[in-house]
Amino acid sequence: MIMLSGWRWTIDQPQADGSVHSNQEQFDREVVRYVTYAADGKTPGIQTSDKPKDWHGSKYARLCPATPFAEQTVAAVAAYCAKAGYAIIHFDQEVSGPASTSFCGSSEHGHAPGYGPWMNQAMAHLYTRIRRECAPLNPDFALSMEEPNELYIPWLNLCQSRPNGLTNEFPMRNPLSQPVPLFSYLYHDYLVGWVAFYPWRSAGQHRVSMAKGFAAGMMPGLHLESTYRFPAEERARFQAFLRTCCEFYAGEAHEALFAGRMEAPLPIAVPQREMVGKNGPIRFPAVYHSVWTTPDGKRCATFFNPETEAHRLDVPGVGAVDIPAMGVRLVALPR
Ligand SMILES: [Zn+2]
Repeated sequence: MIMLSGWRWTIDQPQADGSVHSNQEQFDREVVRYVTYAADGKTPGIQTSDKPKDWHGSKYARLCPATPFAEQTVAAVAAYCAKAGYAIIHFDQEVSGPASTSFCGSSEHGHAPGYGPWMNQAMAHLYTRIRRECAPLNPDFALSMEEPNELYIPWLNLCQSRPNGLTNEFPMRNPLSQPVPLFSYLYHDYLVGWVAFYPWRSAGQHRVSMAKGFAAGMMPGLHLESTYRFPAEERARFQAFLRTCCEFYAGEAHEALFAGRMEAPLPIAVPQREMVGKNGPIRFPAVYHSVWTTPDGKRCATFFNPETEAHRLDVPGVGAVDIPAMGVRLVALPR
């Protein structure tokens, strides 16, 4: 997978040796007329940053999605990457494709100045073109985007999503701290996803966040470097639980977690845990579960226990179910 930084055009990019790589001349000559403009239609939306190591660069703009230049630029980069062997093109940093970042006041770009349906039409047009040009290059080609949006289901194979977080930071807003897998509940049988990224957004409860993500039917996105900083014992536990969850996802529970339709969770009494998050207390269950209807019409529940102690739960219609420590369990449910 390669992740493209949306429609961003970076103008100045500080380098490790203290110099700044700049394409200002090319930008002024070839690009500035195609970036998003302020409401006056005359001021190009150029931003600067004094933050050290800002991932945007220190000076940047955003190509207007409605311009052929923007579409051609992104499509060409995507095709270049697909030819180089990347199976998955991930369109990042256009989180769900929000109107707020696409605003453009230009009357020179072929769209009505300001907000409008042209915004999502431009994204759909780009996705159509990426699929058309990249899919023939790799039999495993897949298109992914950051944070799902039902408007783009027809073009996407994957979405990056964050229903696993234990946080009141992005994508949550304080005082909210419990993201729920609403998109998966509505659309999992149309679009599967992967989490971004373990162990981020887990407030130090890495295995809990992982259990929550897998229970939401998400594949694991892993930021391996972060795990190097765990204490050795916790790193071993994290890796063991990750292996257990991956084998479960790819094996026994695949029809549910990959191909199933998510149902409402069951009313199960689960021990509750509490911790102090960045902006206040966060409560979460000791065991996460999710309920699925598989393509053959059967119902089942999947359980994920990130703790080092086993739990026995009373599952409606089934009875007592034991979930092993740092373990998983698939339980058939009555129809
Ligand atoms: Zn525009």
